[in-house]
Order: sequence, then C-alpha cells, then structure tokens
Amino acid sequence: MVSPSRVSLLVQCVCIILGFALRPYKMSYREVKFFSFPGELLMRMLQMLVLPLLVSSLITGMAALDSRASGKMGMRAVVYYTSTTVIAVFIGIVMVLIIHPGKGSKDEFTKQQQIEQVSPADAFLDLIRNMFPPNLVEACTKQFKTQYAKRVVQVTLTVNESIFTVNGSQEITREEMIPVPGAVNGINALGLVVFSMCFGLIIGSMREQGQPLKDFFDCLNEAIMRLVAIIMWYAPIGILFLIAGKIVEMDDITAMGGQLGMYTVTVICGLLIHAIFVLPTLYFVVTRKNPFVFIAGLLQALITALGTSSSSATLPITFKCLEENNKVDKRVTRFVLPVGATINMDGTALYEALAAIFIAQVNDYDLNFGQILTISITATAASIGAAGIPQAGLVTMVIVLTSVGLPTDDITLIIAVDWFLDRLRTTTNVLGDSIGAGIVEHLSRHELQNKDPETGNSVVEE
Ligand code: ASP
Repeated sequence: MVSPSRVSLLVQCVCIILGFALRPYKMSYREVKFFSFPGELLMRMLQMLVLPLLVSSLITGMAALDSRASGKMGMRAVVYYTSTTVIAVFIGIVMVLIIHPGKGSKDEFTKQQQIEQVSPADAFLDLIRNMFPPNLVEACTKQFKTQYAKRVVQVTLTVNESIFTVNGSQEITREEMIPVPGAVNGINALGLVVFSMCFGLIIGSMREQGQPLKDFFDCLNEAIMRLVAIIMWYAPIGILFLIAGKIVEMDDITAMGGQLGMYTVTVICGLLIHAIFVLPTLYFVVTRKNPFVFIAGLLQALITALGTSSSSATLPITFKCLEENNKVDKRVTRFVLPVGATINMDGTALYEALAAIFIAQVNDYDLNFGQILTISITATAASIGAAGIPQAGLVTMVIVLTSVGLPTDDITLIIAVDWFLDRLRTTTNVLGDSIGAGIVEHLSRHELQNKDPETGNSVVEE
C-alpha cells in the first residue's frame, strides 16, 4: 500500500514545481491567502492536537515508568540534549568564523525601525516563571504576557535598495506574534511540560489508586493518536499548499546577493553538517544501526517540519513516524518527544550563535574568546527558551545579542531570509528530537526489557 511518507515525498516535488510555475502570475496578498488555505487548515488541525497530545503523552509516559527508570531515562535525554546542542552551537561558530559572511560594509543594509532592547536577565527570569504557571487553565489557552512578551517589533527592511517583506507584508506588527520563552501558539508549553511530568510521576507512584487517572490519560492519548493517523492522510495536501503558497509569495532571492546571500549559505552548510553528518554518526556510534534507515522512517515528519516551520505542530506526526515506522517504544516517545520538542532545538541553537557572530562581523566588531563563549552559552539558553513555532528563534536571539552588547535592532538585517532558514532549522530540530528518542530507547533497553510496553508494568517471569 502507498504510505503517507511516499505521498509526502511526491507532493513535495509537485509543490515546488507548482509554486515556481505560479510565480510569474504575481498573485496579490489576498490571492496567496486563498491559495494557501488548505495549508492553513493543516496547521490548525495539527495545532489543535498539540495540547491534548503533549499533556496525555507526558502523563502516561511518566506514569508508566517507575521513578528509577524515568530518572535514568531523563538523565540520558538531558545528556543527549545538552551534548547535541553544544555540538550544534560549535558547528555554527566554526562555520561563521571560517566563511566570514559578514565581511564588507554595513551600508548594504538600511533599517527603518528598531527593536527594543531586552535584558538577558529579564528573559531568563521569564523562562523560569513560565515553568510554573500560576493558573493551569490559563496556561492551556494563553501565552503569558510578561514584560518581554509585550514588546512591539515593527520592521521594514531595505537591502541593496530592494525592499524585503516578511510573510507578504512590508510592515510587521508582532504584538501578538512574539512568543514568551516556552510558549507555543497560545499555550505555555514549558509550564505544561513541567506540570505533566510531575503529575505523571505522582500518578505512577500511587499504584492502584492512580489507575483510573492513568487509564483516562492512556485512552485520551490513544484517541488523539487515531486522529493523527487520519490527519496524516490530509497532511500531504496541506503541505503542498503551504510550501507552494510560500514559493509564490517569496521575494526574489536572487536579488539578495552579498552578505545576506553568504550568510544564508553559511547557515545552510552548518545545518546540513549537523543533520546529515553529526546526528546520524552519533546514532550509529551508540546503536550500531543504520541511521539512514531510521531517518527514512521519519520522512513525513521532516517534510511536515519543512512545510509548517513549527516543531510543535509537527509533534503529532513525529510520534506516528517514530512509533509506527521506526518501532520506537511508546514509553520512550511519550516521555522524550514532548520534552524534546519544547527544549531541544539544535537547529535553532546553531542558527542563533551563527547569526549573532554574523551581526558582529557586519558591524566590524571583533569578538574575543570570552565573548564567543558567552554567545555559545546564551545561544544554548535561547534555543531552550524558543517556542516550537515559526520564527521563535529570531525573537529569542535578542538574549544572545544583548549578552555581548551587540545592537539588537540588527536582527532586522537577517529577517528577510528568516522564513526560509526557519524551515531548515525546524527540520533539524525535529530530526534531533527523533534521533534522541532512538538513542535513549537503545540506552534504556535494560530498564524497558521486563516491562509491558503498553502498561509499563513489570512482567513477572514464570
Ligand atoms: N521554528 C522553530 C521550531 O519550531 C523554532 C525557531 O524559530 O528556531 O522548531
């Protein structure tokens, strides 16, 4: 039978051809919106599932493991997240220092509006605050409007005398779009992750008493996954219109040239090295299995990430690919994936470090070793704080720039190409989370061995 992954791949080719074929017609903003409507519907369907999926999978995942097993698994996941993020940042820094895309003169760029400065301390405190939402119902429906979230960013950018637009409009007002660290499409994901993990652990420790709640969340999780299976058949159509719509409305990238073009190439090279070389090698070294067979099983999730620019919206598809195609144990995916999608963003970390150094280069600002180290630390923190939604990394980059005294308004220099780079870094983020699940499962095979994969209870051997 034809699988959704194969259909996705075919659709990917069709949408690129369709997008370029329609470009000469110069559709208006409204026409592009009509054209992309099926894609917008897909985004909405996926986002609709994120909240129940995130909460039910984490609660059942934690409840299914005893505290020792979840502690060990958690430790492995944290070591994996930290080490791959550090490697990603390192690659980003090396690439930008070698290629030096910011060489030249800043006169190439003119900006019309500035972004207000945010202190790193404010941003870090917001990150911690959001781990503990004071009102759970509110955390499911709203982002927190903290000082950091309320900043308004309005940008129009002229590069080499051509005006670049973002998302089809020349002026963006982001009052609504700016995510607080850890916020996903109106939900405070970080807060919900922390709550669900603790809640799941407690339910697991309550044994028979906690069973009704465990059954409830198990059933909810199963029902959501069945919905995901249906949406996966619609996903190729949605992705076709999402990507083709973007190709139709995008600016003429050939006009970009110069520093911005070199910057784009540098980010692409860095992400490719991490996604095609580092992560697969790590997977092979730990598991001794073919990483590309594993990646082939993830194809539909990777294409969805490319189409939606959102690792959170891709989460339901990532679950399906890992559990059904790659047969990763549900107790691992339920635990590792939601946390990974919220805090583990290799692509974002690589991009934040690279972009910050690019901005320093454009300003002829020589960074010393200490400052580069500061950038790597803050880029790691900023990627943890970035939400899994489109262009969240661009906003948390303010933390990185401020940490070394670089002008935060220079984010506008790279905004014109961010919609494109965002798709690539989101795909890297989803790949990083998925390979993490494969590695953690392999390392945890002894703890998982004598347990029933559905209930997580120990199987008593006769
Ligand atoms: N869009 C990315 C994601 O969803 C986050 C980012 O902007 O880097 O993973």
